[in-house]
Amino acid sequence: MDCLFCKIVGGSIPSNKLLETEDMLVFHDIQPAAPVHVLIIPKKHIASMNDVTEEDLPLIAEIHRIAQEAAQQLGVSESGYRLINNCGPDSGQAVHHLHYHLLGGAKLGALTG
Ligand code: 5GP
Ligand code: ZN
Repeated sequence: MDCLFCKIVGGSIPSNKLLETEDMLVFHDIQPAAPVHVLIIPKKHIASMNDVTEEDLPLIAEIHRIAQEAAQQLGVSESGYRLINNCGPDSGQAVHHLHYHLLGGAKLGALTG
């Protein structure tokens, strides 16, 4: 499948990994938008939040668990962080493999709509 993040999961495209479990991968964003910026992805290819099914829900719960662990490892657990999912054209979703941005390490700007 021609999916960038599936290639990162498979190892054919390198990434700077922070955490890996059987089902999840956390790696540093190549173009960080904040001092701390990692991407949390399920290894399973799910194109977007719209494609999450009932059977995927344990993975969605796991994203929150691993986000806590990543925030602790990155030293932003107490200072604070933001978890963002972009879904569809208006959000600017560029990679069509479900991912959550974990951002922190500085005072983040207000969300805009
Ligand atoms: P989106 O806009 O789809 O929510 O976010 C995609 C993110 O993937 C962007 O923040 C972008 O910098 C990041 N990204 C794109 N290509 C690569 C890559 O090859 N490696 C890594 N580590 N991040 C990437
Ligand atoms: Zn994929």
